[in-house]
Amino acid sequence: MLKITLPDGSIREYEGAVTPLQVALSISDGLARNTISAVVNGKQTEVETPITEDSTLQLLTWNDDMGKKAFWHSSAHLLAQAIMEFYPEAKLTIGPAIANGFYYDVDFGGEPLSEKDFEKLEKKILENAKKNSTFNLREVSKADALKEYADNPFKTELIENLPDGEITFVTHDNFTDLCRGGHIPSTGIVKAVKILNAAGAYWRGDEKNPQLTRVYGISFPKQKELTEYLERLEEAKRRDHRKLGKELGIFAFSEKVGAGLPLWLPKGAALRKKLEEFLSKAQKKQGYEFVISPHIGAKELYITSGHWEKYGEDSFQPIKTPNEGEEFLLKPMNCPHHCEIYKAQQWSYKDLPKRYAEFGTVYRYEQSGELHGLTRVRGFTQDDAHLFCTPDQLLQEFEKVIDLVLYVFGSLGFADFTAQISLRDKENRDKYIGSDENWEKAENAIVTAAKAKGLKTVTEYGEAAFYGPKLDFMVKDALGRSWQLGTIQVDYNLPERFDLWYNGSDNEKHRPVMIHRAPFGSMERFIAILIENTAGDFPLWLSPEQFTILPISEKYSDYAKKVSESLEIHDICGLIDDRNEKP
Ligand SMILES: [Zn+2]
Ligand SMILES: [Zn+2]
Repeated sequence: MLKITLPDGSIREYEGAVTPLQVALSISDGLARNTISAVVNGKQTEVETPITEDSTLQLLTWNDDMGKKAFWHSSAHLLAQAIMEFYPEAKLTIGPAIANGFYYDVDFGGEPLSEKDFEKLEKKILENAKKNSTFNLREVSKADALKEYADNPFKTELIENLPDGEITFVTHDNFTDLCRGGHIPSTGIVKAVKILNAAGAYWRGDEKNPQLTRVYGISFPKQKELTEYLERLEEAKRRDHRKLGKELGIFAFSEKVGAGLPLWLPKGAALRKKLEEFLSKAQKKQGYEFVISPHIGAKELYITSGHWEKYGEDSFQPIKTPNEGEEFLLKPMNCPHHCEIYKAQQWSYKDLPKRYAEFGTVYRYEQSGELHGLTRVRGFTQDDAHLFCTPDQLLQEFEKVIDLVLYVFGSLGFADFTAQISLRDKENRDKYIGSDENWEKAENAIVTAAKAKGLKTVTEYGEAAFYGPKLDFMVKDALGRSWQLGTIQVDYNLPERFDLWYNGSDNEKHRPVMIHRAPFGSMERFIAILIENTAGDFPLWLSPEQFTILPISEKYSDYAKKVSESLEIHDICGLIDDRNEKP
């Protein structure tokens, strides 16, 4: 008997080899109809590939992320087929699925692809898809594979890096490509396709390599879904924070000031200040204390923290003093400063936890090509705080931080989120700092706190930082896009490196546990997401312009001023519009 274990833990038995499709059929006709891909023992495969040994099996439909991946990867084959029909001289390279759709990197030789070519490609793809061809995988020897692609240096390079015996070709219709598998049952289910963009991309992402054309596309099983997707794309463009931020007078960039260094205009500064006040108030209620640290720190500080060794080469380089040979770094994170703040006084277990909060501005070098509006910048302000507590206080502190994050999200209208719990790799515990006992305590604290707060969670093993486990909040915005916002991290490393301690009830020195947390992440990123989520229509309490007074004639101007002043006394801000012309 062959045992197939499904994701819910149930086991189904079959006499001899069985395909994922047959398993689906043995469950229900509907499931079989909708199954477009499968994962067998962790590897994505076609629904017709026989399973010959006891295995775990996940059946995938269009509604699963991995199902979409198979759909879009298969669509990349259709795109490549269409490209080769119009441009027989083109050289294909790779064509993976991405988060939204797929791309294919192609060397078109002399003439690049332009937007006017997209439509004919779309038509050809659908025409070919209609033939309802299956994707057939077959193994080829390295020698045969190299012969097949003798005039394609890119595929040749790929094949040369593959072990003989693991090279497969996939054929659908009249088109064959080098591919390791993971396709949909047949091309016929691709009912709608759009070529979105063609952009330059270097072979293997290395600018020393030849430049290729990356053709982006997306496909769907229904035309309606494509239409909706394109509408969402248009809406996202309309809400782009770079566009709205300018129109609303929130922020600006200046070449003279420097790339990636945002300038907050008065309305943006007002908005940001309100958010800071809102969070400060909530933090104060939870017993946080506010601290302030400088924008630079001696290089020594970051040698102690380990940042210099890890990130030094890719950071802004040290600032030197004119004479004394001192070196300073622009602050890349606030944590080392806060460790020294903790250290400035002596603490007993009765004083803990200490919760130090700061809207701390940090600077991180990003390549100019990576910069993007407020979401990728070179200087930004974290809504940072570091909590120092005893190991026994960890659970309670974690719960409090979750409460704070939920309060922030709730107040700002982010209702749809999941929390990712990142724990140690169970197999490989050597790469983590800190004792097993403390790790267990911390991991249990996170899992217990997340459960107690009723969070929708996913758990990833091996995703913890080397210094401690963490909890990240992934928020969905009004357009269904996912953003990583708040993060909570446990840290055993920095207390060790900075030799932090407190006096225990046993009168011995003990190491505190440190928690890093930032509900917004950074003010810049959060405001970017807030702009796109609200399309600039901020909640009234946050709006930089909460009222406009329109006096109906000049003789009421003084009264309008009086009303405006009395509103402003109550921290309600706005303006008087006494222009003579009608709006
Ligand atoms: Zn493929
Ligand atoms: Zn930190």
